[in-house]
Amino acid sequence: MKLASYQSSFGPRAAGLRDGALVDLNRTDPAIPASMKELLAQGPEIWPRVAQAIAAGQTVAAGSVELLAPVPDPRKVICVGLNYADHAQESGQEPPPEPVIFCKFPTAVSAHGRPIVVPRNSTSVDYEAELVVVIGRGGRHIPREAALSHVAGYCPGNDVSARDWQLHKPGKQWLLGKTFDTFAPFGPYLVTPDEAGDVGSLAIRLRLNGQTMQDSRTSQLIFPVAELIAYVSGVFTLEPGDVLFTGTPPGVGAARKPPVFLKGGDVCEVEIENLGVLRNPVVAE
Ligand code: MN
Repeated sequence: MKLASYQSSFGPRAAGLRDGALVDLNRTDPAIPASMKELLAQGPEIWPRVAQAIAAGQTVAAGSVELLAPVPDPRKVICVGLNYADHAQESGQEPPPEPVIFCKFPTAVSAHGRPIVVPRNSTSVDYEAELVVVIGRGGRHIPREAALSHVAGYCPGNDVSARDWQLHKPGKQWLLGKTFDTFAPFGPYLVTPDEAGDVGSLAIRLRLNGQTMQDSRTSQLIFPVAELIAYVSGVFTLEPGDVLFTGTPPGVGAARKPPVFLKGGDVCEVEIENLGVLRNPVVAE
């Protein structure tokens, strides 16, 4: 299944996709919660009902609604740094022996089609194509073998990064450099694991104004999805709707000679095999 959230006059609502059109799940079946986070909290028992609603429900007229991030209001946006060996190398770092974890605030979350805003106080905003994992059932100390059963779905994401803040402020301000408003677009929709294919080996690409800048496969991840879930859930409780950005392959703008940074008028596209294309225009603040 493909699941999305959209803005209705009643606020954000969860929808399924049928032939590219949205079906409002709660309107079709009132037993299905209206918001994506509450829906995911129901656990796998609700999936047959959701599938039935998608098959039977009325579609919402395309173009009449604003698409939101699949989870518009996650409690946590967790990110992994340096998770592709060749990206670590281009960043001048050794591949880490354990996952490098940082986070973004939920105010950074943005959706397919929404602009990435280059803030007035940064001159080096970069793109990072990433596989994004959305947590379904939560948990603490989730064993690696059970980790994938806690995943509700996958989608493309862009870990937008202000390199001047991330790397050149005192103490290296990773959090601040990564969490400007609009710096966590993901979507356009969640693809459930049964339709995502082998997420350990999906083609992942980023195009800037149509030109391919990153081109790799998720098989290059140093720490795969199951290991990341086991690792972070050893520290904090994962909750339904939590979002995990899994790291970026080589080809980021800061590592290019000369460097390439985002500017108003640009368009970023992150494409992952089986998961669709996340497209965001860039505007200057
Ligand atoms: Mn990243």
